Amino acid sequence: MGDRSFRLSFSPQRHGSLECVNRKKQPVEKYERGTRSYTMSHIRGKDTKIEVLVRSYLFRKGLRFRKNDKRYPGHPDVVLPKYHAIVFVNGCFWHMHEGCSKHSMPKSNVEFWQAKLLRNHNRDIAQRAELEAAGWRVITVWECELTKAVRDERLVRLYEQIVEGDADSAE
Ligand SMILES: [Zn+2]
Repeated sequence: MGDRSFRLSFSPQRHGSLECVNRKKQPVEKYERGTRSYTMSHIRGKDTKIEVLVRSYLFRKGLRFRKNDKRYPGHPDVVLPKYHAIVFVNGCFWHMHEGCSKHSMPKSNVEFWQAKLLRNHNRDIAQRAELEAAGWRVITVWECELTKAVRDERLVRLYEQIVEGDADSAE
């Protein structure tokens, strides 16, 4: 009886389709609104767009390098033995870029994300120290430095950091 009156009160004619009536029977969303799509958009793949951007620029400039070299801590995106330089291309979210608008904590599962991102952050610091102790100059390029408006400038500076830079001018 209750069900029937519910149906009648949402007449298909008025609402265009039967979906409106059956709405409650649809499977619930598999993820909390916003959460999954937000997370997925930040998943760091092996060859994310920003890494490809940096590599192809350096290649065009005539530099030759190894990529994702698993022999080094953090599997650096770009390894240039000739210049003793290593480049990490970091997503601002995953690597907790401090003070960056692209790094904001997800609104749900805050503790989980805080712990996870902090782990990433601390690991970055440890890996950098390890590489520097082994004589590498470590340069970080951030995702937000590769937005269209500022990209060219950053890439030019990166090239200079690699070929001319000493330990001090590397970030
Ligand atoms: Zn950033």
